[in-house]
Amino acid sequence: KEKQLRESQKLEAVGMLAGGIAHEFNNLLQIILSYAQFGIDSTQAGEPLHQDLKCILKAGERASSLTRQLLGFSRRKPLCCVDINVNDVIAELVALAKPLLGSRITLRQNLHPHSVIVHADSVELQQALLNCCINSRDAMDGTGELTLSTEPVDLDEAYCRKDEVLKPGPFVRISISDTGSGMPPNVLERIFEPFFTTKEVGSGTGLGMAMVYGLVKQHQGHIEVESEVGVGTTFRILLPAVKTTAKEKEQVRPVAD
Ligand code: ADP
Repeated sequence: KEKQLRESQKLEAVGMLAGGIAHEFNNLLQIILSYAQFGIDSTQAGEPLHQDLKCILKAGERASSLTRQLLGFSRRKPLCCVDINVNDVIAELVALAKPLLGSRITLRQNLHPHSVIVHADSVELQQALLNCCINSRDAMDGTGELTLSTEPVDLDEAYCRKDEVLKPGPFVRISISDTGSGMPPNVLERIFEPFFTTKEVGSGTGLGMAMVYGLVKQHQGHIEVESEVGVGTTFRILLPAVKTTAKEKEQVRPVAD
């Protein structure tokens, strides 16, 4: 519980920081970037200054992408929640994720044959799932299997005692499972901490999983991680289900590979 509190306080602090500074910071960065580009255009490729300016541009672009992530993270715009079928969100996500995964990662889907409806922001949910897929890709070093599954589950009182936000009842469980490197306990316990990353400086921001955690909490959901070094990692996201009518249940979709 104390850890959860620390995490949500940290999230709030990061959100405030991001909302307040990132926008202004990004405007200043755009000025730096445009002058760097101006300098590049008016120097010759062989000149040392040309190379230096290219370094400025590259670092500036990286900073700009980080601020964009922070802006997304501070979520100044409210969530736009509607009833959505998680299977549809995943079908769209697969199209997005495939080119990012490369040809040596096999993507499997194990979607529940009926609609699994939640009340959620589909854009944000898709982004959160994409963050998980990108982490899985990075953990698999190019080769392996990534499985996306959906399943309706009923959470009982005993289970809900794990997390004070959870209320017993019907949920949809989304699992993202990879055959990657897995995580040792010291990484696993810090995975949702904002800015915690084990990636090289310049390649990880440490905001991906913090965003996922924040979003799941905003949806009164729960997230679990199971990981074994050398075997792989499974994330399970539980979101409160919207009860479907018998008619909607009839919409059976074929189970993809
Ligand atoms: P980033 O990806 O920028 O490092 P994240 O918050 O997304 O930040 O992830 C934090 C850390 O958690 C990663 O650096 C990595 O060590 C670990 N991690 C996340 N997902 C996985 C995974 N599927 N397999 C192994 N390690 C993971």
